[in-house]
Amino acid sequence: MKKVVKFGGSSLASAEQFKKVGEIIRADKERRFVVPSAPGKRDPDDTKVTDMLYACYALAEEGKDFKAQLQAIQQRYQEIIDGLGLTLSLEEEFKTIEKNFKAKAGSNYAASRGEYLNGRIMADYLGFTFVDAAEAVLFDADGEFDAETTNRRLRERLENVDAAVIPGFYGAYEDGTVKTFSRGGSDITGSIVARAVKANVYENWTDVSGFLIADPRIIYKPEGIDTITYKELRELSYMGATVLHEDAIFPVRREGIPINIRNTNAPEDNGTWIVESTCQKPKYVITGIAGKKGFCSVNIDKDMMNSEIGFGRKVLQAFEENGISFEHVPSGIDTMTVFVHQDEFMPKEQQVVSAIHRLAEPDHIEIEGDLALIAVVGRGMKSTRGTAGRIFSALAHANVNVKMIDQGSSELNIIIGVANSDFESAIKAIYDIFVRIQI
Ligand code: ASP
Repeated sequence: MKKVVKFGGSSLASAEQFKKVGEIIRADKERRFVVPSAPGKRDPDDTKVTDMLYACYALAEEGKDFKAQLQAIQQRYQEIIDGLGLTLSLEEEFKTIEKNFKAKAGSNYAASRGEYLNGRIMADYLGFTFVDAAEAVLFDADGEFDAETTNRRLRERLENVDAAVIPGFYGAYEDGTVKTFSRGGSDITGSIVARAVKANVYENWTDVSGFLIADPRIIYKPEGIDTITYKELRELSYMGATVLHEDAIFPVRREGIPINIRNTNAPEDNGTWIVESTCQKPKYVITGIAGKKGFCSVNIDKDMMNSEIGFGRKVLQAFEENGISFEHVPSGIDTMTVFVHQDEFMPKEQQVVSAIHRLAEPDHIEIEGDLALIAVVGRGMKSTRGTAGRIFSALAHANVNVKMIDQGSSELNIIIGVANSDFESAIKAIYDIFVRIQI
């Protein structure tokens, strides 16, 4: 059995946090491959090392003096080294970093040093082999992650290694130039390593005990989610649920490796299991609720629209021509509505309207802004009658006007459009009807 364990920034923000991580790893011999983030915030007002690195490098790029900023970063690492009682010295590493900053090595390189240095400390602390991600995590010439070459290289590199630390967040182009994933990308590295070593589990350790059914900023102490499928998670993360990077599920999904989200500060909690499929019945009909504000609906009316072949294509072409992606397209007999992101749509609004007129010759177009979309997600909905009915009666009781409903054919989710101002009360009403008042 092999486990890949990834630790987020807050789990590695100080020597104290490192010690908790050390205990977690030593408690289980199967935890053989460790993927660290850079040190995160020690308290809410603190700055993440990654952000310090970006700021420091911005000075270097402008040709300004960045010594003090680099020293502050070195200090953060030195405190961890001292707190752990290690003799490791990062002097040479920082000299190299300073030289490379002066030579304008790029902001990707700069940011990646956060994980690189934390990986060095972690390997020293645990007595594990250090494997630089730049050696094995590869990007192609277009800057796209090269999944297959990476998988092969990483597999070969780790084949005969007993226990290793591989820093998260970055890799390199074929010529060795460092490139990072998007922010939060260490989650992706963990998943890539899990696939390469064919791990039994990918444990992702963070500062919460897994996913919650709804956003705790809206629902007071929402219940946690024990098990969620990759598909359900995808729907929820797309709609704004954050804990794990959106792209982190792809590498493990190919191998059917489950992800277990765990809490470094409460290792006794089981956390959330993210799996390909399960016959485990969800506790409630719904698995989770998530949503986003800031959408616009473009309603297009045309008599006899439903019998006009190609009408939908022409309307969508107007959006395509203006480089705007659409979210949902509910339609009626004589109407069709296109939901788009308001900030993306607004600058091109009138161009899109005239393009629709030119291409599809509608009778009337009406735009409505300040809308929110809410996704109610759950594999349990498929086998349960009346889910939509319950949602609507709950929303009606909460005086929320439903502007749109869209149920995916997989019956895995129901998307509801409401006014931005009704967003919070709608989520509360849905949470209450399914979780608090179980019938
Ligand atoms: N340290 C990087 C960030 O702050 C990557 C990560 O933590 O996953 O985004």
